[in-house]
Amino acid sequence: MATVIQQIINKIPKSKQISNQSYEGANIILYTKSKEFFNNGTSTIRELVNEFKKRIELRLDPSLLKTEKKAEEIVMELVPKSAGVTRVLFEPARSVMIIDAKNPNEVIGQKGSLIRKIKEETLWSPDVRRDAIIQSKITDLIRRVLHEDSAERRKFLNKVGERIYEFKRARDDSEMWVRISFLGAAQQVGRSAFLMQTPESNILIDCGINPASNDSSTYPRINVPEFDMAELDAVVISHAHLDHCGFLPYIFKYGYDGPIYCTAPTRDIMAMSQLDYTSIAVAQGNKGIYSSKEVKKTVKNTIALKYGSVTDITPDVRLTLHNAGHILGSAMCHFNIGDGFHNLLYSGDYKVVNTKLLNGSHYTFPRVETFMTESTYGHPERVSPDRAVSEREFKEHAMKVINRKGKLLIPVLGVGRAQEIMVLVAELFKEKKIKDIPVYVDGMVWDITAIHTAYPEFLSTELRDQINAGKNPFAAEFFKQVGSGKERQLVIDGGPAIIIATSGMLVGGPSVQYLKKLHDNPKNSVAFVVYQFYNSPGDRMQKGERTVMLDGEQLNVKMEVSSFSLSGHADFKELMDYMQKLKPRPRKVIVIHGEKSATISLARHIHKRFRIETISPKPIDCLRLR
Ligand SMILES: [Zn+2]
Repeated sequence: MATVIQQIINKIPKSKQISNQSYEGANIILYTKSKEFFNNGTSTIRELVNEFKKRIELRLDPSLLKTEKKAEEIVMELVPKSAGVTRVLFEPARSVMIIDAKNPNEVIGQKGSLIRKIKEETLWSPDVRRDAIIQSKITDLIRRVLHEDSAERRKFLNKVGERIYEFKRARDDSEMWVRISFLGAAQQVGRSAFLMQTPESNILIDCGINPASNDSSTYPRINVPEFDMAELDAVVISHAHLDHCGFLPYIFKYGYDGPIYCTAPTRDIMAMSQLDYTSIAVAQGNKGIYSSKEVKKTVKNTIALKYGSVTDITPDVRLTLHNAGHILGSAMCHFNIGDGFHNLLYSGDYKVVNTKLLNGSHYTFPRVETFMTESTYGHPERVSPDRAVSEREFKEHAMKVINRKGKLLIPVLGVGRAQEIMVLVAELFKEKKIKDIPVYVDGMVWDITAIHTAYPEFLSTELRDQINAGKNPFAAEFFKQVGSGKERQLVIDGGPAIIIATSGMLVGGPSVQYLKKLHDNPKNSVAFVVYQFYNSPGDRMQKGERTVMLDGEQLNVKMEVSSFSLSGHADFKELMDYMQKLKPRPRKVIVIHGEKSATISLARHIHKRFRIETISPKPIDCLRLR
C-alpha cells in the first residue's frame, strides 16, 4: 500500500515538478522545482489538505533558494525598522527562514501582504517569531540551538513522521487496550512520570524528579519491567517545573532519541531549569545526572505545539494541549487513543481561577472517559482565601517591611510565582504605595521573565493587552537583575529592598545565600508564596521551626516568617469546582500528585459528590484504562 505521502504526490500533475518530500512530525512537506507552483500553488495544496485531512506545506527545492546573504538583505530592505528584527536564521535543508522580531505583526503586514512578498522575493518559506523584549543570553542561545543543523533536524522530523504514519493494523475494539503505569507522583508530590501503553504506542507523560529529596526516591521508577527505553515512541511534557521535566535529559543519555511534545514556552523554560539544576548540582560538589549536552539534545528533539492544535504523535494516539493556568505554557494534555476508543485527560498542574499572570484552566473537551488529576491541595482544609484577599495581604506585608526599613526576601521557583510577584510589586509602584526602592531579581528569574515577554499569547488576557499596548510591567526600571556573588553582597549590605530569588523551597540557589545573611535581623522578612515540599527547610520554617539547617549551617531565624496563598495550584474548593465544570463528566478519575492523605481525601470526596469511580494509585501500580 502506498504511504500517505505517496498518495498525495500521485494527485499532483508531473508539471508541478515535485522534487522531494518529507515528514515534519505529523506535517507533510512537499518540495517543488517550479517557482510558479511554489508561488501560486495555494489552492491546489488547500484541496489536498481537505481531501487527506493532513497538514501539508509546499516549499521550494533547496537548490533554487536565494543565497542566505541575499535573502537577509531582502528582508531588511522590505521590513520597516519599527518591526525590530533581531535576527534572521536559515534552515537550508528545509528551505525555512526564521525571522525574529520585537513586533512580528509588522513583519507579517496587512492581511499577510508583507510576508507573502518576502516569500516571493527570497523564495524561502518564512516563519516569524516574537522576540523577548527583555534581553537574555540564554533565550538567544536556545533559539539558535534549535536551528543550527537543519539537515539533522530535517532527518529527525522525518523519522518522527515515518513512525506516526507507519502502517497501522486495523483493530476492532475487542483487540484494543490502554494501560498506564505510575512511575512517580503516585501518593506523593514529585517525580511525575507515567507510562501510557497501547498495542501500538509507548508514551511517557512527564519525566520529573523530586527536587526535595536526595536519594533513589528522587527519580522516577523507570526500572519497572514494562518500561523499555528502546520502545519509547514519544514524551509529552505538561509544564516546565522540575518535578515534571527534570529527569528528561537523562533519558537522552540512555539512548532515547525520539520526540518531546510541549508548548514553546515550556521548551524554553524547561531548558533553563534543567541547566540550572545541573549547575546547582555541580556547585554542591555532585556530578549531576546529566550535562548541558543532553539539555541541548532535549531542545533539539522538541516539537512545540500550540494550545488547541490536534496532532498525531503515534499511529494510534492523537494529542491536544490546552491552557492549564499554572505557569507560562503549562498544559492539560488530552489523548485521543485508537480513534476514539478511549480519551484520557491528564491535568498536569492546574489553576482553575484567573490569576494576575494567566487565565484559568480550560474545561471543555470533545470527550473524556478518564481524568487524571493533581491533588497537591486535595485536603478539604486546604482552602485558600479569595485570590484578591491574598494579593492585598501580600502587598500590605511588603509595604510594612519596607516602611520599617527591612528587606523582604521572597523565595520563588523562578517560573510562575516570580512573575506574578513582579506584577503585584509593579502594581505597588503604580499605586504609589512604595517608591524609590530597588526590586532585585536573582537566579534564573530574570531569564525566565524574558521568556514571558516573548510569548504574550500565553499570558492572561489583561496582561497580553497591556504588553500589546507597549506597557510591559516586566520591563519596569525598578526591577534590577542580580548576576553575581559580588552584586548579591551589595544587595545584602544595602538599604531596604524587595528580593525575589530562587529556589522556592530554600534548597540551593541564591535564596539560601540571602537567608543566611538576612535571618538574624527582625526587621527583615521572608515571605513564602510557593508550595513547600514536605520536610524541606521552607516547610519546616512555615510550620514554626526557627532553628534550621541550611547548606550545612545551623541558623537561628529571627526575621519575620510569613506565608501567602498565591499558589499556582488549585485549592480543594477549586479542584471540586473543576470536577463540576469539566465537560463532559469523566467515568473514572485517577488522583495523583499529592501527599498520600491528600490523594485519598480528594478521591473520596469526588466519589461521594459525583458518584464517579476514583482511584488513588500507589507507586509502580499499573492500571488498565479500558
Ligand atoms: Zn508545577
